[in-house]
Amino acid sequence: MNEERIPRATAKRLPLYYRHLNLLYNQGKIRISSKELSESIKVDSATIRKDFSYFGELGRKGYGYDIAHLLQFFRNLLDQDEVASVALVGVGNLGTALLHYNFMKKGNTQIEIAFDTNREKVGEKIGDVPVYHVDDLEKELKRKEIKVVILTVPARAAQEVTSQLVENGVEGILNFTPSRLSVPSHVRVHHIDLSIELQTLIYFLKHN
Ligand code: ATP
Repeated sequence: MNEERIPRATAKRLPLYYRHLNLLYNQGKIRISSKELSESIKVDSATIRKDFSYFGELGRKGYGYDIAHLLQFFRNLLDQDEVASVALVGVGNLGTALLHYNFMKKGNTQIEIAFDTNREKVGEKIGDVPVYHVDDLEKELKRKEIKVVILTVPARAAQEVTSQLVENGVEGILNFTPSRLSVPSHVRVHHIDLSIELQTLIYFLKHN
């Protein structure tokens, strides 16, 4: 399999498939047709078949998909046996909410450490996650071998913090700030702008 060829849209659906298959497996289900899978995860069955086709023959005609087999396949593909350590920078309202959110329950990621400039927040534990001062960023990121960071600082601080993160080996940033970040080509940024998502939803409601 050539993972380079997998379209971004397909790659983004893989955790969804994994999570759902896990649920079905835990319910004791043994196999599922692409039609059933489609109805339960609300992705049309042609898309599911196309997505799965990038990985070779995962199912059999007339039988459907063997859930345990599929689950193991996606687990390997997504490295689900390995827990990915994540850091969060900016323990404001949104950052705090994310620290309380139990990522581990829904996937294999865990926020291990948080950073902030506010001395009143430093030294606290929020949802079991210790908050450090950004001055310790370099030392702690290296010590914990963190490659992925959730960014929830104010927009004005986003680029400066990003440059610091990149200098310290971070390769993936989940950017919740409205800023567009400049990063070198080996660094991947996924942007989640909640205000834009909400505005877009409202726009579509008004215009359809
Ligand atoms: P709050 O009400 O707690 O300030 P907020 O989400 O409205 O929350 P923001 O101004 O967006 O606050 O800041 C988010 C957090 O980012 C704050 O805790 C702030 O101390 C922190 N912060 C600001 N600048 C930096 C920086 N350069 N590095 C790390 N954290 C920062």
